[in-house]
Amino acid sequence: MTSIVKIMLLVNSFASMAFSGLSALVIESVEAECDGIVVRARTSGLPVGCPDRGRSTAQVHGCHVRRPAEVPVDARSVVIEVRIRRLACASMVCPRRTFREQVPGLIERYQRRTSRLTAQVRVLVKEAAGRRCGC
Ligand SMILES: [Zn+2]
Repeated sequence: MTSIVKIMLLVNSFASMAFSGLSALVIESVEAECDGIVVRARTSGLPVGCPDRGRSTAQVHGCHVRRPAEVPVDARSVVIEVRIRRLACASMVCPRRTFREQVPGLIERYQRRTSRLTAQVRVLVKEAAGRRCGC
């Protein structure tokens, strides 16, 4: 095994360990930028069921990128740049016709933070609200 392959394996194992909360995604790259760490990822590409009809489909209608904030690593902010598919419903009579795939448990609909970061912020807010004034 060449040294470059060994280094790539180490980097991949570090990325999967440091970002284990993102296991629902396929991590394509992790880059340190001046304002933090950017994890570029995509969904698995598996068929997804339509929210209305439930029929699974993998027919891609389009894609877009979401950029939710993730739990900081080593005091550096982390943003996940995840490519999300818009899929065409497999049912000809479905009124929805297309729908965005979701990543439940990781990125909830309309949220700008991952579920893990939201949970951590919620705990911090509760702790801060529960403190008594030191005056
Ligand atoms: Zn449908």
